Amino acid sequence: MRFSKAFIPTTKEAPKDAVLPSHIYLVRGGFISQVASGIYDFLPLGKRVLDKVRAIVKEELDKAGCQEVQLGFVTPCELWEESGRFAKYGKELLRFKDRKENCFVLGPTHEEMMVDLVRGRIKSYKQLPLNLYQINLKFRDEARPRFGLLRGREFLMKDGYSFHADEEDMRREYALMEETYKKIFTRLGLDFRAVEADVGAIGGSASKEFMVLASSGEDTIAVCSECDYAANVEAATRKSPEPPAEAPEFSNFEPFYTPGLTSIEELSDFFKVHPYYFVKAVAKKAIFDEGEEIVLFFLRGSDELQEVKAQNAIGANELVDVSEEELQKAGIVPGFIAPYEQECRIVLDKELQGAKGLICGGNRKDFHLIGADLSHFDEALFADIAQVREGDLCPKCGAVLKLTKGIEVGHIFQLGTRYSAAMNATFLDRDGKAKPFVMGTYGIGVSRLVAAAIEQNHDDRGCIWPKAIAPYMVDIIISNIKEEEQARVGEELYAKLQDAGIEVILDDRADRFGPKIKDFELIGFPYAVIVGKALQEGEVEIVERAGLQKHRVALDEAVEYICKLLA
Ligand code: ATP
Ligand code: MG
Repeated sequence: MRFSKAFIPTTKEAPKDAVLPSHIYLVRGGFISQVASGIYDFLPLGKRVLDKVRAIVKEELDKAGCQEVQLGFVTPCELWEESGRFAKYGKELLRFKDRKENCFVLGPTHEEMMVDLVRGRIKSYKQLPLNLYQINLKFRDEARPRFGLLRGREFLMKDGYSFHADEEDMRREYALMEETYKKIFTRLGLDFRAVEADVGAIGGSASKEFMVLASSGEDTIAVCSECDYAANVEAATRKSPEPPAEAPEFSNFEPFYTPGLTSIEELSDFFKVHPYYFVKAVAKKAIFDEGEEIVLFFLRGSDELQEVKAQNAIGANELVDVSEEELQKAGIVPGFIAPYEQECRIVLDKELQGAKGLICGGNRKDFHLIGADLSHFDEALFADIAQVREGDLCPKCGAVLKLTKGIEVGHIFQLGTRYSAAMNATFLDRDGKAKPFVMGTYGIGVSRLVAAAIEQNHDDRGCIWPKAIAPYMVDIIISNIKEEEQARVGEELYAKLQDAGIEVILDDRADRFGPKIKDFELIGFPYAVIVGKALQEGEVEIVERAGLQKHRVALDEAVEYICKLLA
């Protein structure tokens, strides 16, 4: 490709709302262009990168025996009603009617569509297993589309669904998909971790997320410093923390006047007692299918509530904040909430099970209770609802856990019969009985990967593409197109590199050298060959984008040199 003919509208201006490097550089580098909130066009460079990601995903899935299909993007509401998700999905699901008043949704995920495709067509256990996938547009009317391609409303996803006769075979496929995903992200040249993920309130089934490590990631993951344990904090567990040395001693269980003191910090100072020995209360409003209610969560004062764990512990759809007025109306005293004598539902963190000698709220303004003993509380009230902290100990090996940020680029999930049973999709098993398919589901954020690659690989000048997905490998920059010799050598190298099968772009624009090298740095091709002044000594300069190191190479060795770099 010749730069002079290419549609690569690079700019100096970053989008106003852009804060992340991938968003800024992908727009400035002429890869993508915003059409509406969370909706992007892919320009030629962006399309090349996207297609490369897509091709690697496809190759590895096909090797693993998966078959590609393509389902409709516009999906009928009836299918969503059959699975029960039409009512549940909320505002992310974009619903609309056609001219005949038929209701449709833009597919945010395709479990229903895929079950519908398979049911009635796969009739016997002999036709199983089956793993079908597509690489197709998705639409989710995200509450806050942001960060460019990282959280779009319209985005490209690889979604796969497998069908099995039994759980064991589903687990085999799940393990195969985990291996396949690792191959994919390794080939893409990304530093990633497979982490244990939240499985939601359904429980039982396993789920893993694939996280590209990047400081800008929206997810926090706990990673063991010694073993292979890694988990999203929404699902992470830990070895029970050791109690701090000096436990307070209370001779009685009694109220204690604590005027205006509500925070654990203030109370810890006041009593000279470690936060560990306090009972912290967090009030939330839990939203269920049937309605909403206030739930009180209690933890050690040294811990924080992990909301996803808390939500799962009670099987709620969502937890939202609750105002002081609402609490007071329910007879709860904000700031002084005790786990005793509450009308509403309470949940205690498992670290508090059997705990004694504690300080908790007094259910009365300006009073706390000292010497609280929770050892008589019913076991059923306890659940793991605390957030794992940096420095906590690994549940597997006991070494120190570190917290780090990640971008979720893939998710695999043991689904079971949730959709097949609801949608009456069955096969005849060995024993002649009709059974619902046991399913797995596997997603990859294909367009999100384009941005995640840049979040992980950039500097203050622009993108640094991993070689596997770079739009072109080499940018030949003719320093001054008016110099005949430079132009001739540039053309010659361009032809030779193309002959060698290398994806190369020739910067033959009539611009000055400055803007050309700036574009190279912004766009982030892995290498540039500068055909300029060094030519007088029979040499060209080769620049490696990562690190911007320059090497002078004899002109007649240049092609071989580049081929070696790319091998
Ligand atoms: P998130 O927690 O980031 O919203 P999710 O759990 O909703 O993700 P899945 O339903 O598992 O995501 O979708 C599969 C993959 O699709 C995700 O792993 C992610 O890479 C990608 N993805 C999800 N939502 C978006 C989005 N709004 N924009 C771009 N990619 C997305
Ligand atoms: Mg989401």
